[in-house]
Amino acid sequence: MYDVIILGAGPAGLTAALYAARGKLKSLVITGPMVGGQIALTYQVDNYPGFPDGLTGLELSERFKAHAERFGAEFIDAEATRVDLASNPYRVWVGDRVYEASSLIVATGMTHMRLGVPGEDRLMGRGVFVCATCDALLYEDRKVVVVGGGDSALQEALDLAKFASEVTIVHRRDELRACRCLTDKALGEPRIKLLYSTVVEEILGEKRITGVRLRDLKTGEVKVVDTDGLLLAIGWNPNTTVLRGELEMDESGYPKTDGVKTSKPGVFVAGDLIDRNYRQVVTSCGSGCGAALEAIHWLEAQPRH
Ligand code: NAP
Repeated sequence: MYDVIILGAGPAGLTAALYAARGKLKSLVITGPMVGGQIALTYQVDNYPGFPDGLTGLELSERFKAHAERFGAEFIDAEATRVDLASNPYRVWVGDRVYEASSLIVATGMTHMRLGVPGEDRLMGRGVFVCATCDALLYEDRKVVVVGGGDSALQEALDLAKFASEVTIVHRRDELRACRCLTDKALGEPRIKLLYSTVVEEILGEKRITGVRLRDLKTGEVKVVDTDGLLLAIGWNPNTTVLRGELEMDESGYPKTDGVKTSKPGVFVAGDLIDRNYRQVVTSCGSGCGAALEAIHWLEAQPRH
């Protein structure tokens, strides 16, 4: 029996674990697929305060985890397979094993949608990346392909164009989904070019990306384009499948929240699931801290605590 179970071990979950454990809560983190979450996929983190020389996403993740462990947080490197929030104590399953807790912090984050083409898994973090704010500096004077035609693709392309020598947006239709303001900006940026009605069929390279194989959907022409990086901006999915039916959610699968609070007493949400604007490591840490403090206050107000 735990005071709090934290689902997810990205910056939000790990910060929640640190604050909860330091606040003397018996805390269990069920990490999900990867300690560090999305940040573990980022090679260099240069915008986390206090690390002026930068550090790798993996190293930052390990530091976050070690910090929470120092105060007694426990970890299970696995994915929660079922959650039951019908009554308190709340229950979380990992396979056949069930864990109980008085409160729950959901910090399961989001998953970038993937193309599902050959080379993508092998080269993720090796030139295939998902966040211009995190990685743009690595592409100074280099060529980058951005896939997608929505606001994210255009915004990321504009951010990259401040550093890269050439940014090519590859979009599957002949019309962008992005808003007019971003489209106009991108079309006015000489370093950005757009390939419409084109899809990425394969990402090339062994240890690092070297190029992409593209297909023009109108002409059928296939060509290889050299590139130093490929940014995926084709949308996001919230990682909330395991909570379906247990928490109130909107039609896209985001928990309905008021700040970090959900409609269930003692259940809180942190990280990207409640952040539509910033989605930075430091902002995720902030809401992870907030969720843990709310859990501590909530538990203190319960009669048996
Ligand atoms: P989005 O609007 O869902 O756009 C995803 C884009 O990726 C679409 O153009 C889509 O093509 C394309 N796509 C999807 N699956 C694909 C696949 N398998 N292969 C190739 N292309 C694929 O996602 P988003 O751009 O991340 O935006 C999400 C939300 O955040 C939106 O509400 C957006 O307004 C907001 N946002 C706002 C800003 C801003 O205001 N600055 C910045 C970023 C995001 P189709 O067009 O053909 O469907």
